[in-house]
Amino acid sequence: MKTIIIGGGIAGLTTAIALEQQGIDTHVYEAQSSLGVAGAGIWMATNAMQVFERLGLADDIKQRGMPLDKIEIADYRLKTIQATSQLLFVEAYGFSVTSILRSRLRDTLVEHYGKPVHTAKRLDRVLDNGQSVKAFFTDGSHVSGEILIGADGIHSAVRQELFPKSQIRYSGQTCWRGIADIALEAPYERACVETWGKKYRFGLSVISDKEVYWFAVAKAPRGEKDDRSFIKEKLQSMYAEFSEPIPSILSATPSHRIIRNDITDLLPIRDWHKGRICLIGDAAHATTPNMGQGGGQAVEDAWFLSRVLGEEKDYRLAFQQFQKKRQKKVTQVVKTSWQIGKVAHLSFGQGLRNFLLRNTPKSIAEKRMLDLYSIDY
Ligand SMILES: Cc1cc2nc3c(=O)[nH]c(=O)nc-3n(C[C@H](O)[C@H](O)[C@H](O)COP(=O)(O)OP(=O)(O)OC[C@H]3O[C@@H](n4cnc5c(N)ncnc54)[C@H](O)[C@@H]3O)c2cc1C
Repeated sequence: MKTIIIGGGIAGLTTAIALEQQGIDTHVYEAQSSLGVAGAGIWMATNAMQVFERLGLADDIKQRGMPLDKIEIADYRLKTIQATSQLLFVEAYGFSVTSILRSRLRDTLVEHYGKPVHTAKRLDRVLDNGQSVKAFFTDGSHVSGEILIGADGIHSAVRQELFPKSQIRYSGQTCWRGIADIALEAPYERACVETWGKKYRFGLSVISDKEVYWFAVAKAPRGEKDDRSFIKEKLQSMYAEFSEPIPSILSATPSHRIIRNDITDLLPIRDWHKGRICLIGDAAHATTPNMGQGGGQAVEDAWFLSRVLGEEKDYRLAFQQFQKKRQKKVTQVVKTSWQIGKVAHLSFGQGLRNFLLRNTPKSIAEKRMLDLYSIDY
């Protein structure tokens, strides 16, 4: 079955690898002209790592990233509010969360895919005539296939064609991300730490022996821009009262390695497929990043969709099974992540929030994560 995949991100490439392993012929079309520019880092959680293991990728991802021992929420003085050991998940599922530079993850996926990715191919529109599906690109070219997978991210052109009323929500928060050239020592060398200050949040994790991935979150008007020449100084002043190693991480970050995006998600949509076309990953269900699960859910999609397409000869039934199985879990992630974002930036009651979190039994937090990371297919 000739399958067109629009988008060469985490969802598109993982799906392509998984479908090829099911003997399904895939062709990936990516808007960017180069695949090497994905900045910042990403945490690939235990659920994603289990899928990567099944696809034969986990060892390479672990080797090129940093498997972590602990996830911690702390206050701006780095005093722990809540900490979860990853050893429990290693025992239960074989993997902890792995922190990795996005471009290294993408290189690993491209290498394992093995076929060329068609770059500089921006989808303009799709046409499903009942017998086949055609993808038209902005360069005037087009291709035909039996089915088309829309893996083109939160601003999906495929979704826009299928479900033009879908809505992107702005969380009211913006996020800077960067890579610092610095080595961290214990207790940070194998931990993801997210710190909650009075107005700002800051997260960090090591991605190699000499690099730290970090993100900084603040409330801001939608679309606000920085003066690039002062971006580092601006962040250093925002985080001046945060404890070390945060100031040192910011000073060790070259300005050109800082990027900024507003935090948005996709208001959950009822359907993920229509005719010969199916959406996956952020195109179907973009979430805010507060649970570090957008990529993880995209990887789970890739695994399950490829399984049902491999087993079910009728693509319509496969798409239905895919949505039926995946939608409940994903919608829960989208909702919970949205709420965490609100709680993390409460204007009032921060002391009470931290007290309640500190006193939440560890077993409750761990049970939630065990459920989230479980893949029963
Ligand atoms: C600040 C931040 C931090 C995050 N941290 C984490 C984390 O730690 N862990 C985690 O699991 N998730 C995280 N996420 C979420 C994660 O980045 C996404 O969920 C994930 O990248 C989704 O993958 P995707 O392939 O569906 O979409 P994308 O990664 O957006 O990939 C879509 C691809 O499609 C291409 N494309 C777009 N339009 C077209 C078109 N018209 N034609 C052809 N190609 C097109 C794009 O160039 C891109 O390569 C974070 C997100 C943000 C914003």
